[in-house]
Amino acid sequence: MDGLDDHPRHHCGIVGAIARRNDVASDLFYGLRVLQHRGQESAGLAVHNGQIQAKKGMGLVHEVFDGEDVDRLKGHVGIGHVRYSTEGASALENAQPIVASSIAGDIALAHNGEIVNALELRRALQRKGWAFITGTDSEVIVRLLANEIIRTRDVNQALREFTSKLVGSYSLVLLVGERLFAIRDPMAVRPLCYGRKDSEHIVSSESVVFDTLGAKFIRDLRPGEIMELTTEGVHSTRLPHPTNAAHCMFEWVYFSRPDSVLDGRLVYDVRVKIGRELAADHPVEADMVVAIPDSGRAHAFGYAEVAGLPLVEGLIKNRYIERTFILPNQTDRDVGVHLKLNAVRSLLQGKRVILVDDSIVRGTTMKKIVGLVRGAGAREVHVRIGCPPIRAPCYMGIDMKTRHKFAANQRTVEEIRERLGPDSLGYLSIPGLVRAIGKGEADLCTGCLTGEYPVQVPGERMRPQRRLDLYLPSQRT
Ligand code: SF4
Repeated sequence: MDGLDDHPRHHCGIVGAIARRNDVASDLFYGLRVLQHRGQESAGLAVHNGQIQAKKGMGLVHEVFDGEDVDRLKGHVGIGHVRYSTEGASALENAQPIVASSIAGDIALAHNGEIVNALELRRALQRKGWAFITGTDSEVIVRLLANEIIRTRDVNQALREFTSKLVGSYSLVLLVGERLFAIRDPMAVRPLCYGRKDSEHIVSSESVVFDTLGAKFIRDLRPGEIMELTTEGVHSTRLPHPTNAAHCMFEWVYFSRPDSVLDGRLVYDVRVKIGRELAADHPVEADMVVAIPDSGRAHAFGYAEVAGLPLVEGLIKNRYIERTFILPNQTDRDVGVHLKLNAVRSLLQGKRVILVDDSIVRGTTMKKIVGLVRGAGAREVHVRIGCPPIRAPCYMGIDMKTRHKFAANQRTVEEIRERLGPDSLGYLSIPGLVRAIGKGEADLCTGCLTGEYPVQVPGERMRPQRRLDLYLPSQRT
């Protein structure tokens, strides 16, 4: 997170494709551009053409790759990755796809999620003599797989066995030699879906990639599904999996693009329903609803509809301030919010305004926006938030680890209101969120709201269900 955007960052977006043509890299490139919202720090592509060839770099997809790079990456099968990274100087080493050798050929991996027992697995592999180049859990995954391939001498068996040792969230696309696999963890925490364009078969974090590539969305991967993609079609097996999934609620609230369909729900529809639930939960006398652009748009639409109030563009976003840029001598970070958002005085002056956004993590940006709207002459400012208070860290792929920085950490809603400064503050309830998503609470992860997680996390509570490893075969490393 930076000082201008209070939203947590996703770690990754992934894509994989196999076709009869040997220029699959161009579809992967466009796929990554569509998934850019899932990670802006690094991008990478790996294709197979006799051997695996990869290129990755720091920056946005179009900054890392030019047309010549994409042309050079010849191959009929490949994978791609965009990442948000926090590792500073070592960030390029941590960019993906990660490539490693195995007796079944080179392996390239693109991972979205987070492995809770990565340290334990890393130590077990180090005891076996494996060396690590990066500090990432994704490298643990790729070395673990290479280890299993050596042990079992059978790729399909190795895939089943190595996933049985992973605890946490993982959507993976993998090249093993020239074979392409896609794997979704047994609780399907992170999204992964499959689409087709003639004889080209594609997997992607989000269905919106298929729209862009002119492909047809076929379906989401099922919890615990291992899918092999070939030019003839797909072949799937299932890992042992619990009865309930644990889809990350935040994918619908904020992360995924509104035009993606995620596990059967159009993200835009869910956000509008969130806004409707919010209006029913927290009505207030006002003159207008204003969305915080762009994250609060669909939620505000639903709120305004139920409240019977006009939806007014009282805040205008500067579309060209994509990433933080503050002059080195500029210590007053308020300039950042002013660069990014402007409050339209002629629309807001003397009005009672309901500001709607998707979520509050630290609250620093919301406090500044409330000040901005008041500064533009609003008579009252009411804040409505489409996600219940975030009180606990995420251990499954979202950069929300510092509990003490959360606005809602050990504070009541009234105490948060006092810190942020609006006249009233209302958060959507957990039942309201569950109704809006339209899946049972038992099929959602709400760990950062409740502090109860779907997997065993050291030092945290686990939600009442059988531990995932009780569904799995023996835990050998
Ligand atoms: S803890 Fe929160 S952000 Fe993390 S996977 Fe669960 S719902 Fe998503």
